[in-house]
Amino acid sequence: MVMKGNVTTIRKVLKKKLDEERYEHTLGVAYTAMCLAMKYGEDLYKAEVAGLLHDCAKCYPDEVKLAKCEKYNISVTDVERRNPSLVHAKLGAFLAMNKYGVTDMDVVDAILNHTTGKPAMTLLEKIIFVADYIEPRRNKAPHLDKIRRMAFEDLDEAVRVILKATLEYLQDKGSAIDEMTAHAWEYYEKEWEKERKNESVTEHGEAGI
Ligand code: FE
Ligand code: FE
Repeated sequence: MVMKGNVTTIRKVLKKKLDEERYEHTLGVAYTAMCLAMKYGEDLYKAEVAGLLHDCAKCYPDEVKLAKCEKYNISVTDVERRNPSLVHAKLGAFLAMNKYGVTDMDVVDAILNHTTGKPAMTLLEKIIFVADYIEPRRNKAPHLDKIRRMAFEDLDEAVRVILKATLEYLQDKGSAIDEMTAHAWEYYEKEWEKERKNESVTEHGEAGI
């Protein structure tokens, strides 16, 4: 992967740009992403860089996030304008390319889609989406021990469960739900149902022999 700079440099810059808690979370996501990459056969370096940079735009004050989007011609929706924290993914993807020298679009896409998820994610996108939720410093979400184990057994199943938990959490809080999260959940729910049907057909077939 051709890339300006390296992970040590990226880490040094991030340490200045992020608060302490976010920096710790960032390292947790990078290492968890690398473990998942080992398990599922993704490039370790891509996983590390995407993990390190996924929240690189998270700690700017809201008005700075919006100002940067305007400066770099990044479109902002009405929902994002009302809740500017949501733009950290697309602003982060932009900064990864233009400030951190990332040229690999798999890495950029994984940063871009890490918050909402999306239907039919690539392996690296799934790894970052899941690592963001299960990294060791996270402690608030329910059933984390179970989801952590699941992530290393069936990545798609972990994606589906995390999407569902995210939607439920946002609904309970009365927060705006990004359409993409709902689309992503519907997609993985359908895939899961398809798989279950296939399994029951196979079982039935075997039983019939
Ligand atoms: Fe994030
Ligand atoms: Fe994060």
